[in-house]
Parts: sequence; C-alpha cells; structure tokens
Amino acid sequence: MSAGRVVATRAELRAALGDTAPGLVPTMGALHDGHLALIARAATENLLVVVSVFVNPTQFSDPDDFARYPRDPARDVAAAFAAGAGIVFTPEASAIYPPGAATRVEVAGPALRWEGAVRPGHFIGVATVVTILLDLVRPARSYFGEKDYQQLQVIRRLHADLALPGEIIGCPTVRDADGLALSSRNARLSPEARRAARAIPDALQAMVERAGEGETEVSALIATGEAVLRREPALAIDHLVVVDGISLEPLTTLTPGARALIAVELDGVRLIDNRELRNPRL
Ligand code: AMP
Repeated sequence: MSAGRVVATRAELRAALGDTAPGLVPTMGALHDGHLALIARAATENLLVVVSVFVNPTQFSDPDDFARYPRDPARDVAAAFAAGAGIVFTPEASAIYPPGAATRVEVAGPALRWEGAVRPGHFIGVATVVTILLDLVRPARSYFGEKDYQQLQVIRRLHADLALPGEIIGCPTVRDADGLALSSRNARLSPEARRAARAIPDALQAMVERAGEGETEVSALIATGEAVLRREPALAIDHLVVVDGISLEPLTTLTPGARALIAVELDGVRLIDNRELRNPRL
C-alpha cells in the first residue's frame, strides 16, 4: 500500500498522473479518521487516489488561525498511503499560486450566509483552491466531507457552474464515540471544553428526533436544539439554523433535504456540525 509517490510541483503531479483520471481527496493535512474514511472510500472507487495536503492560506480570514493550524506532513503522507492513496501532493503555496497570481473564484448563492458571512473571503479561498486542484488533477471523482456541509454545497455549485471535471462525492461525517464530529481543531480544546463540546451532537440529535416525531415548525426545532446547547454555559452559539439542503437559505417549515447547521465558539475554538432533519411524512 505504501508504494506511493509524493509530488510537490504542478509538473511532477502531471507527470505522475499521465493520462489517469484518479480519485481526488483534497485536505489541509493533520489527517484524522474523517479524512482517512474519504481516502479509503476513494480507494474502493478509483484505481489511483491523489490526496492533496495543503494548508490553503487564502481560506483563512484570521492569520492567527492559519499560523496555529496543525501541520505534520511526514505523518500525513504515511497515513494517506496507509489508507490507500497512490499519490500525495504536498505543494508549497507558490505551486498553487504562481508568482503574481491575481485570479480568485467567487461563488455567490450558497456561499453568502453562515460561514461565508462570519469568515470574509473564506469561500473565495476554498473555491479558488478547489478550482485549481480540479484543473490540475482532472479527477474522475472528488471526495468531500458532509462535516463541512456548506463547503460541500458551495463546491457542488462551483463544479456545476464552471463545468469542472469528474463527479463531486459527499461523504458522511465521521464522529468520535460521544458523537462529536472529528476535526483537526478538536485537539485545541481543553479537557473541560472537549466534554462540553458533546452538547453539539446532542443538540443535533434532539432536533433529528423531534423532526422524526413529526415536528415541521423550524422555530420549534431550533428551540429544541438551543435548549440542549444552553446547558453548557461555556459554549457560545454563533448560529443554529435550519436551511434548505442545496441553497442554504433558511426555512420556516421543514422540506425534504433540510439541514440543521450549528456553529459555536468554545474555548476560543470555532466548531461546526450539521445533520439532515427528516420528517417521516414529507
Ligand atoms: P480539511 O482538511 O479540514 O480541509 O478537510 C478535508 C476534507 O475532509 C473536507 O472535505 C472535509 O469536509 C473532510 N472532513 C473533515 N472532517 C471530517 C469528518 N469528521 N468526517 C468526514 N469528513 C471530514
């Protein structure tokens, strides 16, 4: 499994790929079981998997967040190969953004609200790097996690609008035993904050159950989720909303594909999560 190649430049990547349209898993490294599940799935559906490891500076609105983002390239390369990657692409910023780079890709629609409103420029950075990666790799399939649900919908929109290559595949969120979605940022939580973070999946679960019992009023579903989050005073709610699963516009009554999105701040760390809310009668 580890007879893979590490490439760092555009030319090395193109040479390693030849005519192959591989599976692509874009990451920012600090790989955990959520990333590894994407790589493993890609390896079952593609003869060759490319994993990119690039902490993309343009998607951080806070330079401090960028500086503190965990980096361990040697460990990431080994983990990616063990999970089924054939090529790991570890570019320097100059290989993604050539000298004088002046092109940015901006998605409106699903990028405007929620994370897009709180983190100015974030989705421009995401859309720009994903466009470059899809153009460089020309994958048959690209894998993204539902963990970053708004990002997934922004990328689906981008992919359709710019006729980017291959297929976009959304993969379920991988969670810790207590339900907290795996995230590289979880490592920054104090033990006390890590315990309190459990309220996030608990709130979503309460909303899923209430919807499953037949509640369709979004205000009632939000009240259910908020009541669970408020049990943890250390946890500051940034948003708790129920949105259309494609446009990300807020809903007042549940529709098929509706999604609950949560963003909180805990111990100076911003955590996000989401679940689909299904009403059995819809
Ligand atoms: P990141 O390195 O945070 O940019 O994430 C790279 C990819 O892994 C993105 O498509 C994420 O949505 C996905 N991902 C991150 N955490 C998880 C998780 N807990 N479960 C599933 N996918 C995830």
